[in-house]
Amino acid sequence: MLLTLTTTHRPATDLGHLLVKHPDRTHAFDVPVGTAHVFYPQADEARCTAALLLDVDPTRLAAARGRGRQPTATPESFTLGRYVNDRPYAASSLLASALSRVYRSALRGESRDRPELAATSIPLEIRVPVLRCRGGAEVATRLFGPLGWTVTAIPIALDEQHPQWGESRYVDLTLTGTLRVADALNHLYVLLPVLDDAKHYWVAPDEVDKLLRVGAGWLAGHPERGLIVRRYLAHRRALAGQALERLAAQCPTDEPSVDDGVADRPDQAPRASLAARRREAVHAALVEAGAQRVLDLGCGGGALLATLIGDRRFTEIVGTDVSTQALGLAARRIRLDRLPERQRNRVTLHHSALTYRDERLRGYDAAVLMEVIEHLDPPRLPALEDAVFGYARPTTVVLTTPNVEHNVRYESLAAGAFRHSDHRFEWTRAEFAEWVDRICATYGYSAVVRGIGDDDPQVGAPTQLAVFTRT
Ligand code: SAH
Repeated sequence: MLLTLTTTHRPATDLGHLLVKHPDRTHAFDVPVGTAHVFYPQADEARCTAALLLDVDPTRLAAARGRGRQPTATPESFTLGRYVNDRPYAASSLLASALSRVYRSALRGESRDRPELAATSIPLEIRVPVLRCRGGAEVATRLFGPLGWTVTAIPIALDEQHPQWGESRYVDLTLTGTLRVADALNHLYVLLPVLDDAKHYWVAPDEVDKLLRVGAGWLAGHPERGLIVRRYLAHRRALAGQALERLAAQCPTDEPSVDDGVADRPDQAPRASLAARRREAVHAALVEAGAQRVLDLGCGGGALLATLIGDRRFTEIVGTDVSTQALGLAARRIRLDRLPERQRNRVTLHHSALTYRDERLRGYDAAVLMEVIEHLDPPRLPALEDAVFGYARPTTVVLTTPNVEHNVRYESLAAGAFRHSDHRFEWTRAEFAEWVDRICATYGYSAVVRGIGDDDPQVGAPTQLAVFTRT
């Protein structure tokens, strides 16, 4: 079983610091089913590849099975099957376990020697030449695609000499993207066993905690989280139900039932969820405005904060929320207590209500109000307007809110219902435009308005975005 991780971030050999494995040496680790080796087929300034090779010892694997710890989904219940199977050769949950043993601190995003690099998104390429992939290559794309990876999954023929025999259940997987190494490893740690769908060990209830911990920051908003959770928890329904419930609680605005997710549209290319596209659009607007010191007002669980922290253009990032629970989630999501000091100094969380003037929020380049205003009772909205546009007065305000006209496109949403139970109102495009005009006239801003998500010729895009600039 082989997995390689390559970067072209210069100097590429810094990968050795992130993985805490020196590129000039080979490293061997004893793992329960055999030996895991790490070595570098290439390590120079421009390109560095770390290979993880798991050498499974079939007798040790059988012994681990013999202890009765793992019901298995593969047809190995006959005695010889314990020894003769694909486990030693195909990447699977065994490789994920080895990954967590061998790259332990990198998985947590910790790096003593290169803390800043560990917190930075860098160009990465991951290759798993033989990966068991239940459901075919397309599942790999559905799982990794929404996380920012470009996925190439090539089905491997059952027998190259006999193409008429069709494809095997294995793929040759390549992922490319610009991500933090920790995120990449966390994605692999969860999704390799999910693709394999034959967990090699008994799934205990504490696996839910583990999954939520490793999935922090990306699983709650993943359009295929149902599939991921069910397979990861080996189809134990009660555990999967608990995990999904806890994920839903983390993500108040993800609108799982009405999002333009991938799951409903297996025939189409996967794409990011609406929540991810909103974050992307807001991030782009902040960059375009040249903002460096930014506020995320009503930051909720901190998904946007995580994106902003990954971009070094932002020198100061402040998240605020009226809910201490949300702030707690945000702190955990961005791993505030574990950020290296220089990163830590860029980020502040404030408990603050947007309906009151708050001196701490004055003088910033930009403020984001992403999916927040619709959570206020309409009579309280003028207080927010005063506190943000009148008192804090950032140079730029990036604001999003649902387009209620689009709701008719969500089949699962009852007529007239809002997208989220805590929404106090949702506006049409005309209502939003009128509000934006009034804010500009009252507080001395100019604004541009556009949609986020697929534009619908009749009802418009699902989300409305306004970028206000102080005049
Ligand atoms: N911006 C985040 C969260 C949106 S959910 C995102 O897009 O993911 C709305 C958030 O606004 C919640 O976290 C809620 O606690 C917060 N909120 C609601 N009323 C608020 C108020 N008056 N002051 C500050 N935050 C408020």
